Amino acid sequence: MKVYFLGTGTSQGIPVIGSHHSVCLSDDFKDKRLRVSVWVHDDENSVVIDCGPDFRQQMLTSKCPKIDAILFTHEHSDHTAGIDDIRPFNFRQGEIEIYAHKRVIKNLEKRFDYVFEKENKYPGAPSLKAIEVSNNKDFVVGNFKVSPIDAMHGNLQVFGFRINDFAYLTDVKTIASEEVEKIKGVKVLVINALREEPHHSHFSLQDALDFVTLVQPEKTYLTHISHLLGFHEEVQKKLPKNVFLAYDNLEISI
Ligand SMILES: [Zn+2]
Repeated sequence: MKVYFLGTGTSQGIPVIGSHHSVCLSDDFKDKRLRVSVWVHDDENSVVIDCGPDFRQQMLTSKCPKIDAILFTHEHSDHTAGIDDIRPFNFRQGEIEIYAHKRVIKNLEKRFDYVFEKENKYPGAPSLKAIEVSNNKDFVVGNFKVSPIDAMHGNLQVFGFRINDFAYLTDVKTIASEEVEKIKGVKVLVINALREEPHHSHFSLQDALDFVTLVQPEKTYLTHISHLLGFHEEVQKKLPKNVFLAYDNLEISI
Protein backbone atom coordinates (compact mmCIF):
# COMPACT_ATOMS: atom_id res chain seq x y z
CA MET A 1 0.00 0.00 0.00
CA LYS A 2 1.22 3.48 -0.81
CA VAL A 3 0.35 6.81 0.75
CA TYR A 4 0.92 9.90 -1.36
CA PHE A 5 0.78 13.26 0.42
CA LEU A 6 -1.27 15.44 -1.92
CA GLY A 7 -1.18 18.42 0.44
CA THR A 8 0.29 19.06 3.89
CA GLY A 9 -0.64 22.69 4.62
CA THR A 10 -3.14 24.29 6.94
CA SER A 11 -6.29 26.01 5.64
CA GLN A 12 -4.64 28.91 3.82
CA GLY A 13 -1.84 26.80 2.30
CA ILE A 14 1.81 27.90 2.12
CA PRO A 15 2.71 30.44 0.82
CA VAL A 16 -0.16 32.44 2.30
CA ILE A 17 -1.50 34.94 -0.26
CA GLY A 18 0.30 38.29 0.15
CA SER A 19 2.51 37.09 3.01
CA HIS A 20 6.10 38.29 3.41
CA HIS A 21 6.83 35.72 6.14
CA SER A 22 10.22 34.09 5.47
CA VAL A 23 8.67 30.59 5.24
CA CYS A 24 6.17 31.86 2.64
CA LEU A 25 9.10 33.29 0.64
CA SER A 26 11.22 30.11 0.93
CA ASP A 27 12.55 28.52 -2.27
CA ASP A 28 12.59 25.04 -0.71
CA PHE A 29 9.90 22.93 -2.40
CA LYS A 30 9.25 21.30 0.99
CA ASP A 31 8.04 24.68 2.29
CA LYS A 32 5.26 24.87 -0.32
CA ARG A 33 2.16 23.22 1.05
CA LEU A 34 -1.22 22.75 -0.62
CA ARG A 35 -4.35 22.10 1.43
CA VAL A 36 -4.24 18.83 3.33
CA SER A 37 -5.11 15.53 1.63
CA VAL A 38 -3.69 12.05 1.01
CA TRP A 39 -4.10 9.46 -1.69
CA VAL A 40 -3.98 5.86 -0.41
CA HIS A 41 -3.55 3.25 -3.11
CA ASP A 42 -2.29 -0.17 -4.12
CA ASP A 43 -2.36 -1.95 -7.49
CA GLU A 44 -6.16 -2.17 -7.47
CA ASN A 45 -7.61 0.32 -5.01
CA SER A 46 -7.48 4.08 -4.86
CA VAL A 47 -8.89 6.19 -2.05
CA VAL A 48 -8.48 9.90 -1.42
CA ILE A 49 -9.00 11.43 2.02
CA ASP A 50 -10.56 14.91 1.75
CA CYS A 51 -11.04 16.96 -1.39
CA GLY A 52 -9.96 20.54 -0.75
CA PRO A 53 -9.60 23.59 -3.01
CA ASP A 54 -6.29 22.32 -4.46
CA PHE A 55 -7.75 18.98 -5.57
CA ARG A 56 -7.43 19.60 -9.31
CA GLN A 57 -3.77 20.55 -9.09
CA GLN A 58 -3.11 17.61 -6.75
CA MET A 59 -4.68 15.11 -9.15
CA LEU A 60 -2.64 16.49 -12.05
CA THR A 61 0.65 16.41 -10.13
CA SER A 62 0.16 12.97 -8.56
CA LYS A 63 -1.22 11.50 -11.82
CA CYS A 64 -3.92 9.71 -9.81
CA PRO A 65 -5.64 7.61 -12.51
CA LYS A 66 -8.93 6.74 -10.76
CA ILE A 67 -10.75 7.16 -7.46
CA ASP A 68 -12.77 4.36 -5.85
CA ALA A 69 -13.90 6.53 -2.93
CA ILE A 70 -13.35 9.84 -1.18
CA LEU A 71 -13.38 9.78 2.62
CA PHE A 72 -14.17 13.07 4.35
CA THR A 73 -12.78 13.97 7.77
CA HIS A 74 -15.15 16.96 8.23
CA GLU A 75 -16.90 19.71 6.31
CA HIS A 76 -14.48 22.65 6.55
CA SER A 77 -13.71 24.18 3.18
CA ASP A 78 -10.02 23.30 3.14
CA HIS A 79 -11.22 19.65 3.15
CA THR A 80 -14.23 19.84 0.82
CA ALA A 81 -14.08 22.81 -1.57
CA GLY A 82 -12.69 20.77 -4.51
CA ILE A 83 -15.74 18.57 -5.04
CA ASP A 84 -16.65 20.09 -8.40
CA ASP A 85 -13.33 18.89 -9.80
CA ILE A 86 -14.16 15.19 -9.45
CA ARG A 87 -15.98 15.51 -12.80
CA PRO A 88 -13.12 14.18 -14.97
CA PHE A 89 -13.20 10.99 -12.86
CA ASN A 90 -17.02 10.81 -13.25
CA PHE A 91 -16.74 11.13 -17.03
CA ARG A 92 -14.29 8.21 -17.13
CA GLN A 93 -15.58 5.92 -14.40
CA GLY A 94 -19.09 7.09 -13.42
CA GLU A 95 -20.42 7.82 -9.95
CA ILE A 96 -17.93 8.07 -7.06
CA GLU A 97 -18.66 6.93 -3.52
CA ILE A 98 -18.06 9.41 -0.76
CA TYR A 99 -17.91 8.42 2.89
CA ALA A 100 -18.66 10.98 5.58
CA HIS A 101 -20.47 11.64 8.83
CA LYS A 102 -24.22 12.26 8.35
CA ARG A 103 -23.70 15.89 9.43
CA VAL A 104 -21.03 16.38 6.78
CA ILE A 105 -23.24 14.87 4.04
CA LYS A 106 -26.03 17.30 5.06
CA ASN A 107 -23.57 20.19 4.90
CA LEU A 108 -22.39 19.14 1.42
CA GLU A 109 -25.99 18.80 0.22
CA LYS A 110 -26.56 22.43 1.21
CA ARG A 111 -23.32 23.87 -0.16
CA PHE A 112 -23.21 21.78 -3.34
CA ASP A 113 -26.97 21.55 -3.91
CA TYR A 114 -26.58 21.16 -7.70
CA VAL A 115 -24.54 17.97 -7.14
CA PHE A 116 -27.36 16.37 -5.16
CA GLU A 117 -30.19 17.65 -7.37
CA LYS A 118 -32.66 14.82 -8.14
CA GLU A 119 -34.75 16.46 -10.88
CA ASN A 120 -33.35 18.41 -13.81
CA LYS A 121 -29.78 17.85 -12.70
CA TYR A 122 -27.26 19.44 -15.06
CA PRO A 123 -25.74 16.53 -17.03
CA GLY A 124 -22.14 17.66 -16.47
CA ALA A 125 -22.47 18.10 -12.69
CA PRO A 126 -20.44 15.87 -10.36
CA SER A 127 -21.91 12.47 -9.59
CA LEU A 128 -21.64 11.16 -6.02
CA LYS A 129 -23.03 8.34 -3.95
CA ALA A 130 -22.96 9.52 -0.33
CA ILE A 131 -22.48 6.82 2.32
CA GLU A 132 -22.80 7.63 6.01
CA VAL A 133 -19.93 6.83 8.33
CA SER A 134 -20.75 6.02 11.95
CA ASN A 135 -18.26 5.57 14.72
CA ASN A 136 -17.41 1.94 15.62
CA LYS A 137 -18.71 0.76 12.23
CA ASP A 138 -15.87 -0.37 10.00
CA PHE A 139 -16.42 -0.41 6.25
CA VAL A 140 -14.66 -1.81 3.23
CA VAL A 141 -13.49 -0.05 0.07
CA GLY A 142 -12.02 -2.66 -2.30
CA ASN A 143 -9.21 -4.36 -0.37
CA PHE A 144 -9.08 -1.66 2.26
CA LYS A 145 -10.70 -2.21 5.62
CA VAL A 146 -11.44 1.23 7.00
CA SER A 147 -12.04 1.98 10.70
CA PRO A 148 -13.35 5.43 11.57
CA ILE A 149 -11.61 7.15 14.51
CA ASP A 150 -13.70 9.71 16.36
CA ALA A 151 -11.96 12.91 17.49
CA MET A 152 -12.68 16.57 18.21
CA HIS A 153 -11.53 19.66 16.26
CA GLY A 154 -12.31 22.17 19.02
CA ASN A 155 -16.12 21.81 19.30
CA LEU A 156 -16.53 20.02 15.97
CA GLN A 157 -16.52 16.22 15.62
CA VAL A 158 -14.07 14.92 12.99
CA PHE A 159 -13.26 11.45 11.72
CA GLY A 160 -9.80 10.06 11.31
CA PHE A 161 -9.41 6.78 9.41
CA ARG A 162 -7.37 3.67 10.01
CA ILE A 163 -6.73 1.69 6.82
CA ASN A 164 -4.89 -1.58 7.49
CA ASP A 165 -1.61 -0.56 9.20
CA PHE A 166 -1.99 3.12 8.44
CA ALA A 167 -3.87 5.80 10.40
CA TYR A 168 -4.64 9.32 9.22
CA LEU A 169 -5.96 11.97 11.58
CA THR A 170 -6.12 15.64 10.81
CA ASP A 171 -7.64 18.70 12.48
CA VAL A 172 -7.58 16.95 15.84
CA LYS A 173 -7.36 18.78 19.17
CA THR A 174 -8.71 16.14 21.55
CA ILE A 175 -9.37 12.42 21.31
CA ALA A 176 -10.87 9.93 23.76
CA SER A 177 -8.68 7.12 25.09
CA GLU A 178 -10.89 4.38 23.56
CA GLU A 179 -10.33 5.98 20.14
CA VAL A 180 -6.55 6.03 20.72
CA GLU A 181 -6.75 2.27 21.36
CA LYS A 182 -8.06 1.78 17.80
CA ILE A 183 -4.89 3.35 16.39
CA LYS A 184 -2.40 1.34 18.43
CA GLY A 185 -0.24 -1.07 16.46
CA VAL A 186 -0.17 0.96 13.25
CA LYS A 187 3.06 1.07 11.28
CA VAL A 188 2.49 4.62 10.05
CA LEU A 189 0.57 7.38 11.77
CA VAL A 190 -0.20 10.72 10.14
CA ILE A 191 -1.26 13.41 12.61
CA ASN A 192 -1.76 17.17 12.43
CA ALA A 193 0.78 19.60 13.97
CA LEU A 194 -0.07 23.23 13.24
CA ARG A 195 2.67 25.30 14.92
CA GLU A 196 4.55 25.58 18.22
CA GLU A 197 2.05 27.95 19.86
CA PRO A 198 -1.08 26.28 21.27
CA HIS A 199 -4.27 26.56 19.18
CA HIS A 200 -7.92 26.10 20.25
CA SER A 201 -8.79 23.49 17.62
CA HIS A 202 -5.53 21.98 16.31
CA PHE A 203 -2.68 20.02 17.89
CA SER A 204 0.42 22.13 18.45
CA LEU A 205 3.75 20.46 17.72
CA GLN A 206 4.04 19.41 21.39
CA ASP A 207 0.45 18.06 21.41
CA ALA A 208 1.32 15.97 18.35
CA LEU A 209 4.55 14.64 19.89
CA ASP A 210 2.71 13.73 23.10
CA PHE A 211 0.18 11.86 20.95
CA VAL A 212 3.00 9.96 19.23
CA THR A 213 4.30 8.89 22.66
CA LEU A 214 0.83 7.60 23.48
CA VAL A 215 0.25 5.68 20.23
CA GLN A 216 3.85 4.44 19.68
CA PRO A 217 3.63 3.89 15.90
CA GLU A 218 6.72 2.72 14.01
CA LYS A 219 6.79 5.99 12.07
CA THR A 220 4.87 9.26 12.23
CA TYR A 221 4.40 11.96 9.64
CA LEU A 222 3.13 15.40 10.69
CA THR A 223 0.72 17.33 8.46
CA HIS A 224 -1.74 20.30 8.34
CA ILE A 225 1.23 22.57 8.90
CA SER A 226 1.19 26.38 9.19
CA HIS A 227 3.99 28.61 7.93
CA LEU A 228 4.34 29.61 11.61
CA LEU A 229 5.86 26.19 12.39
CA GLY A 230 9.02 27.28 10.55
CA PHE A 231 11.24 26.05 7.71
CA HIS A 232 10.81 22.35 6.90
CA GLU A 233 14.52 21.61 7.13
CA GLU A 234 15.01 23.34 10.50
CA VAL A 235 11.91 21.84 12.13
CA GLN A 236 12.81 18.33 10.88
CA LYS A 237 16.19 18.52 12.69
CA LYS A 238 14.44 19.09 16.03
CA LEU A 239 12.07 16.12 15.75
CA PRO A 240 12.52 12.81 17.59
CA LYS A 241 13.67 9.69 15.74
CA ASN A 242 10.97 8.21 13.48
CA VAL A 243 8.93 11.44 13.45
CA PHE A 244 8.98 13.32 10.15
CA LEU A 245 7.38 16.40 8.71
CA ALA A 246 5.37 15.34 5.70
CA TYR A 247 5.73 17.43 2.56
CA ASP A 248 3.72 17.71 -0.64
CA ASN A 249 4.28 14.91 -3.17
CA LEU A 250 6.06 12.65 -0.67
CA GLU A 251 5.04 9.04 -1.23
CA ILE A 252 5.62 6.32 1.33
CA SER A 253 5.11 2.54 1.18
CA ILE A 254 3.50 0.65 4.03
ZN1 LIG B 1 -8.28 21.83 8.07
